[in-house]
Amino acid sequence: MTAAHPAADTPALELLRRIFGFDAFRGSQQAIIEHVAAGFDALVLMPTGGGKSLCYQIPALLRPGVGVVVSPLIALMQDQVDALKQNGVAAAFLNSSLDVQSARAIEQAARAGEVKLLYVAPERLVTERFLKLLEDLEAGPGLALFAIDEAHCVSQWGHDFRPEYLQLSTLHERHPRVPRIALTATADAATRQEMASRLGLTGARVFLSSFDRPNIRYTVVEKDNPRRQLLGFLAEHKSEAGIVYCLSRKKVEETAEWLRREGFNALPYHAGLDSETRAEHQRRFQRDEAVVMVATIAFGMGIDKPDVRFVAHLDLPKSIEAYYQETGRAGRDGEPAEAWMTYGLQDIALQRARIDESEAPPERKRLEAQKLNALLSYCEAPRCRRMVLLDYFGEQSAPCGNCDVCLNPPELFDGSVAAQKALSAAWRTGQRFGAAHLIDVLLGKVTDKVKTFGHDALPTFGVGTEHSEAEWRGIFRQLVAAGLMQADLAEYGALKLTEAARPVLKGEQTVQLRKPTKPKGKAARAKAK
Ligand code: ADP
Ligand code: ZN
Repeated sequence: MTAAHPAADTPALELLRRIFGFDAFRGSQQAIIEHVAAGFDALVLMPTGGGKSLCYQIPALLRPGVGVVVSPLIALMQDQVDALKQNGVAAAFLNSSLDVQSARAIEQAARAGEVKLLYVAPERLVTERFLKLLEDLEAGPGLALFAIDEAHCVSQWGHDFRPEYLQLSTLHERHPRVPRIALTATADAATRQEMASRLGLTGARVFLSSFDRPNIRYTVVEKDNPRRQLLGFLAEHKSEAGIVYCLSRKKVEETAEWLRREGFNALPYHAGLDSETRAEHQRRFQRDEAVVMVATIAFGMGIDKPDVRFVAHLDLPKSIEAYYQETGRAGRDGEPAEAWMTYGLQDIALQRARIDESEAPPERKRLEAQKLNALLSYCEAPRCRRMVLLDYFGEQSAPCGNCDVCLNPPELFDGSVAAQKALSAAWRTGQRFGAAHLIDVLLGKVTDKVKTFGHDALPTFGVGTEHSEAEWRGIFRQLVAAGLMQADLAEYGALKLTEAARPVLKGEQTVQLRKPTKPKGKAARAKAK
């Protein structure tokens, strides 16, 4: 007897080795698999790349009957089924990419007990035809389990909402004895609750894996010249594959073109491109070397490339979940990777305007505003980025030593006086001007605009020379992020005071601000690696 295998292999481990060719389970995989294989429900929260697929594939193989997997991603379904077949598992999928005949053939095979794992798109699952098939399966070969992948799609407030997911609770009503496992890589505490209740999984055991991605280094830089800043960042990622996210299709196109001129193998990706072009660009990103995909968030779910070395954001995402999900596409192979974002005042204004102008009900707008605020505190807080991120997902952690704040801690100062000066500059000019003009006033610059409006006669004119222009930009941005001011996009970014500004102006409340951090030299960064 050897010490390496003191106990006999469990059936699950035996399958893992024999079918999938892996030596050992990762994280909580084994616990989840045993729980579901024993017939219990599970809600699995595991970051992207954590290994969620095996959590339903192995129990489906361990139990009699067909495992039914609901997945919204057609491309991913195809890949998974191909991979399973290669490993000798009888897998098939039903989605809109199949013609009627092929679909019928698969249904027949399933009834005959010749399919072990059946992937199905949610819109197909809820049809009468499929529900009938499920009844036949339960009466025939049996139903091993229901797996609901990307379960956050049931959340009406999330950006991946799929109305058909709301009907998935019917599975349990019709087949109460079949265990269910719902899986997702994205969920704050509120979404988790919503998922459990909408899917009828409040009694399910929750398996929460750590969301930490220690190999990803997080950095947020103040936007001044985003293209130059991006080039500086990319200079450290020559010959590496990565994603550059932009908010609009137009900006995606322009940025991709410009990066190509700068010598990068850059491709655009957004929902405005025809599906062939999108598929082709995705394929090249997966296969070719060092492709920089410039994309809107349309490029996302279903990317299965382990060696994405960086994810850069030229625009502010909507929420911490979105940011975490997008940056999570970097470094799935566990090797060092970077999540880099440039962000400025205009970004806040744009996102606020998006929320204000949407047709959403007030309740949803409030929620979106809260989510944006959480992201802004991620950008502005002088705390370890990873701590802020994990805290948002309900996880305690210590300073990571692998983010810009840890590597290059920002200097804080009592910004009460600076805040008062900035707020009163906006107030005294009638709350009609953007940061650039207000900074001219504070610095005492006699520009044409200053002369035209007679702002050189104001008591605030020239009272802010103790700070540089860059510092003032940072101060205004932090005041907006903290909710003391609002940028009005309809008026070209005019800065207005909010109710919250009052106690600061009156000197009843102090304000802590951070000084702009100087970009670290390459040498210092390299040393820190
Ligand atoms: P997720 O769906 O959580 O993003 P996947 O199920 O696609 O993750 O798994 C991510 C990668 O990790 C896949 O390449 C998978 O084969 C691999 N993997 C999963 N579990 C194990 C394991 N126990 N040992 C080794 N590799 C694993
Ligand atoms: Zn840190």
